[in-house]
Amino acid sequence: MIVAVVREELDNRSALIPEAVKKLMKIQGLEVHVETNLSAHWTDEEYQAAGARIIENREDLYGRADVILRINPSDTREIGYAKRNALHVSLLDPYNNRKLVEAYAKAGVDALSLEMIPRTTLAQKMDVLSSQASLAGYVAVIKAAERLAGIFPMMMTPAGTIAPAKVFVIGAGVAGLQAIATAKRLGARVEAFDTRPVVEEQVQSLGAKFLKVDLGETGQTKDGYAKALSSEQIARQHEAMARAIAGSDVTITTAKLFGRKAPILITSKMLKSLRPGSIIVDLAAGSGGNVEGVEVDKEIVVDGVRIIGIDNLPGEVAVHASQMFASNMVNLLGHLYDVDNDILKLDEGDGADEIALGCLIVRGGAVVHEGIKAHYEGE
Ligand code: NAD
Repeated sequence: MIVAVVREELDNRSALIPEAVKKLMKIQGLEVHVETNLSAHWTDEEYQAAGARIIENREDLYGRADVILRINPSDTREIGYAKRNALHVSLLDPYNNRKLVEAYAKAGVDALSLEMIPRTTLAQKMDVLSSQASLAGYVAVIKAAERLAGIFPMMMTPAGTIAPAKVFVIGAGVAGLQAIATAKRLGARVEAFDTRPVVEEQVQSLGAKFLKVDLGETGQTKDGYAKALSSEQIARQHEAMARAIAGSDVTITTAKLFGRKAPILITSKMLKSLRPGSIIVDLAAGSGGNVEGVEVDKEIVVDGVRIIGIDNLPGEVAVHASQMFASNMVNLLGHLYDVDNDILKLDEGDGADEIALGCLIVRGGAVVHEGIKAHYEGE
């Protein structure tokens, strides 16, 4: 079975690194073919030494693949190069990418969405959302620290004492917790808020303060994602966070709602209360943004506040982001591949489990994921 890895456009990361190629090549029956100049960080020779075949022509690469491995989805033109029944594995954002998903079905290419890997203990090692979110949380703080015209740690000198920077983190999930840890390591005073009360203890264990707000019933989905708040709850949250935001040098927002538009947590009006020169990094920029007016992949200054909306923050640390992504892919393929029968376990009869069935979106020319089908029918 041939696993083909395509070079990403507008993304410094790559879906496999040589070390991961080596691991896949150890699985009997798998071959790895990679597009030439796959990565800016590893050479063709290194991929070759790990056992991969280097393919010059993209159309040729697609045409020979049983599995197409990417970070970002292939476009409709590229998917036309693929063999019928090949499996396309990438982030796919299926809730918001209906046309593309249907184009895969029309081309007869099966599609697996990495966002949909269930959040179970067994699937943790395949979960790219988590591996990439940790890095995003780290990069967000490093970027903010670099942009801030001040320092993070307290400094006592004969010339006087500098107070530590104040960092406020909204959303203490995977990215938020890493942002808290990074800001603490740099010496900042950190406060955080999340609608899921269960994270209070995790925030405190990192040495940060948890902002308590009584929003009434909030809760989380069975997968651990936050539920959307009512407009009254959002209004109450705005009010409660206003003081923390106004007093912060840096605010990191990470609040996302899986498959849906992110909630606006910092309005244009609230921006006016921030000190000029303060920094906001909005990790939800790509899914609508937590900050009113944020622009995707741009840094803008509004009322003296710098708002950073870079979507692909893991791409800024592409070596480690690729390393973690690739490791997730080795675990996923190792899980799906049936060595004895040289097939992928994508059908119940072939031994597909809740991981495979949870993230398989297109199979045999049709959208097969019940949740995605229901979402499209409701549109
Ligand atoms: P996410 O990226 O969807 O959201 C980030 C955070 O924003 C979440 O903590 C969410 O509660 C919070 N949020 C949403 N709306 C908010 C609002 N209005 N105000 C403030 N905060 C808001 O979530 P995530 O970080 O990917 O994951 C959430 C949780 O899922 C994690 O804390 C983790 O415990 C769990 N998880 C489990 C697994 C697994 O078991 N395999 C894998 C990854 C994550």
